Amino acid sequence: MKAPLTINELKEYVMNDPDFILEYVEKIYDVISSIEPKVRAFITLRPREEVIRDAEAVIAKIKSRTAGYLVGCLIAVKDNIITKGIRTTCASRMLQDFVPPYNATVVERLREEDAIIIGKTNMDEFAMGSTTENSAFFSTRNPWDLTRVPGGSSGGSATAVAALEATASLGSDTGGSIRAPAAYTATVGLKPSYGLVSRFGLIAYANSLEQIGPICRSVSDVAVLLDVISGFDPRDSTSIKRGRQRGFYTACMERELESEIKVAIIREMFSDGIEAPVKTIFNSVLDKLESNGFHVEEVSVPELKYALPTYYIIATAEASSNLARYDGIRYGYHIVVEGRSWYDVYSDVRSTAFGDEVKRRILVGSFVLSAGYYDEYYLRASKVRRVIRDRLLRILSSFDVIASPTMPVLPPRFGERITDPLKLYAMDVNTVPANLSGLPAISLPAGFVGNLPVGFQLMSKMFSECELLTISKFIEDLLNIAPAIPELVRHHV
Ligand code: GLN
Repeated sequence: MKAPLTINELKEYVMNDPDFILEYVEKIYDVISSIEPKVRAFITLRPREEVIRDAEAVIAKIKSRTAGYLVGCLIAVKDNIITKGIRTTCASRMLQDFVPPYNATVVERLREEDAIIIGKTNMDEFAMGSTTENSAFFSTRNPWDLTRVPGGSSGGSATAVAALEATASLGSDTGGSIRAPAAYTATVGLKPSYGLVSRFGLIAYANSLEQIGPICRSVSDVAVLLDVISGFDPRDSTSIKRGRQRGFYTACMERELESEIKVAIIREMFSDGIEAPVKTIFNSVLDKLESNGFHVEEVSVPELKYALPTYYIIATAEASSNLARYDGIRYGYHIVVEGRSWYDVYSDVRSTAFGDEVKRRILVGSFVLSAGYYDEYYLRASKVRRVIRDRLLRILSSFDVIASPTMPVLPPRFGERITDPLKLYAMDVNTVPANLSGLPAISLPAGFVGNLPVGFQLMSKMFSECELLTISKFIEDLLNIAPAIPELVRHHV
């Protein structure tokens, strides 16, 4: 059987023959049984029989004409997004047996449109990392090169999509965690504007920075998922009060580019740390854009050199506060408490069930918030954050998009970055500005160095996802790479 690669293609099959969904489910599980032992994208995979039962219910709905928009879609969900009755671990021993009693809003919305959740994907513990090596359970491998990382922290979600183990997926992005793995797996990943997608049911890492977003095999698929998951949610006080217009982003895929598109390139996003082949691919995309009528201009934002330290101060501060709730008493990891002091139990639980990177963040975060240092670190970082936001908004008042390589380096080999936290953090240099300023940002497949994918990032104005997706679609068509299928799974197509 030929596997449809995009949501629209799948929809066509299903509309012609609703029972095709059963064939599709079988196909995906066959791919999973041969590929999953190699890549390990899932922490929890739902049993085939259970998914078939869900599929049968969807087919019945199609036949009675009551079905939603995402019929047939098998969605992989990052394991920090709460799923009722399905274990949600955050890739941490702290939550290894946690089965939530409710659904995140985004999951509810997927289900309302008749998507089926196929499983929960691997990630860096509590979303802290850029390679998925910080998972407490195992590392996920890059389907383009099994000796390399898939990026992180939503590495499982991106891998499941690239390796044809799911139709599409959801990730979360606090400082690049959707875009990094999208770049490293040649998929399309969108971090929406802050407030566009409800965070209700997203296990918090750093609330003021993060958003849930789609990782897909095409820009159009991203638009479809964004249509489903975006929009006001009374249960998230930071979600913006905009009505949900069904099909709004999908319609943006039909739009033509109206005028000359102005692209800003920020000099400071090309620091010494950037690898030459990444630069070469990025420049070749720019050349193509210029010869297609785009206007490309270099600008400078000197303050951007403070983006990484600013991000790591704010993110760790918020993390240390959020992670204080894991005491091993109310839920999650338990140990014997009888006859032991509060202090003993608390420190035993936290030192056993949190991994090294999580502990490092709690320590740093508590330090930058502590009396005497608060002004020097947290407060100052908040001010720099504002300056960076103002500078980027200023640029976007005269440009449509800001472009950069998503990641400064090619996908690292296992162990290459993880041993030195500063080397790991440096990978986020081009992704954190969007989170600091709340702006939407997308990573598109830009090309390959050998078989290693390189991502092209675009940032745009607040809530301009329609324009961003229209431009992205144009670039996707121009480059003609997506959907990009790794050699490993090509025989399944
Ligand atoms: N790599 C960054 C961090 O570790 C971003 C992670 C994320 O976006 N969740 O904080």
